[in-house]
Amino acid sequence: MKPTIETLNLFKLASGDEFFLQLYKFVGKRKGKKVYIQSNLHGSEIVGNAVISQLINYLSTLNKSQLEGEIWLLPVCNPLGTNQRNHFFSSGRFNSYDGKDWNRIFWDYEKFCPNLDGFVQENIKFDSLTIQENFLRQQKQAFSKQLDRINSPSGAPLFEQYRYQLQSLSMDANYVIDIHSSSNQCIDYLFCFPGQQEDSANYFKIDYGILMDTYDGDAFDEAFMKPWLALEKKFEELGRTLNIDRESWTLELGSGMKMNPQSVTLGVKGIINYLVKKGLLKLENYALFTHKITLVSRQNIKNYYAPTGGMIQNRLPLKTPVKAGDKVYEILSFNKQGNLPEVINIYAETDGFIFDISTNYSVNQGDYVLALCNPNS
Ligand SMILES: [Zn+2]
Repeated sequence: MKPTIETLNLFKLASGDEFFLQLYKFVGKRKGKKVYIQSNLHGSEIVGNAVISQLINYLSTLNKSQLEGEIWLLPVCNPLGTNQRNHFFSSGRFNSYDGKDWNRIFWDYEKFCPNLDGFVQENIKFDSLTIQENFLRQQKQAFSKQLDRINSPSGAPLFEQYRYQLQSLSMDANYVIDIHSSSNQCIDYLFCFPGQQEDSANYFKIDYGILMDTYDGDAFDEAFMKPWLALEKKFEELGRTLNIDRESWTLELGSGMKMNPQSVTLGVKGIINYLVKKGLLKLENYALFTHKITLVSRQNIKNYYAPTGGMIQNRLPLKTPVKAGDKVYEILSFNKQGNLPEVINIYAETDGFIFDISTNYSVNQGDYVLALCNPNS
């Protein structure tokens, strides 16, 4: 099966050059669910581009009868971020024009939904599928006002135009997967919303996940999922379980500015397994696997910041288990007081393991150095 390829105009620059998005769509023989997968929303987090490329190659080997529904893939989804540079480094986490984090700009319907209680009252008599269709229609109607605003003479800032593009491609999906990595160097993990998703998390072959106990709807995965979770909750308050078939994932595959081969393979295998589990891929003789994930809260991950300026040395590598009181790194600290340079030892506050480390070994006071995950705290 070959994908259909759509090139979408994104925006025009001062120089007259234009940016585009290029979308790959695989459409199965039979109608079914829709999956939307994007990568590289943060400019330095390129690993998902390799994952999507391998998924495109893999899906191309299947025939249409092996896919039920549609899979939409959008690699390099943020050209402005991807192309941004500071010397050797890709720095595209923030839009340099407005300072906004590219993944904190999204449109969350729950904030604009005029009357969720009214919607629930009007729809309580319907079956779950009809309720979801009605809710999606209402959400799309509200979202279309964004386009009116963009097309109005007064226009809209770039971040609103950009998010409109990504969200109009993904809003009606059943499952969205947004592939990121650390901006620094990290283990592979994912973000998981509470509820039925917690079970699905075991199909990605990833050891750790962060359970999103709080979310404000500004991130891409949150903006997709938050309105549905709010709807589900409202019905639950009335004693009805809706079983909304929608899930949203952020996969964090390894390190920034790299496409670590193990992280890429893990991503590809996990996504294929997930698509089989969710009934989109119908593969004969495929052995579906599960891998028990450990879900931790954000509070289980503690960032360590440099207590003084200097150079990091002898830092424990990623994944190293530590006990409270173990030395985790040293700062080689210089001074201008006529003294010799000194070495300052930094110790772990708790048990855990090294979850993430900074790429830069040179730190000003207060710079981020590492994160320690304590799954048992
Ligand atoms: Zn990211």
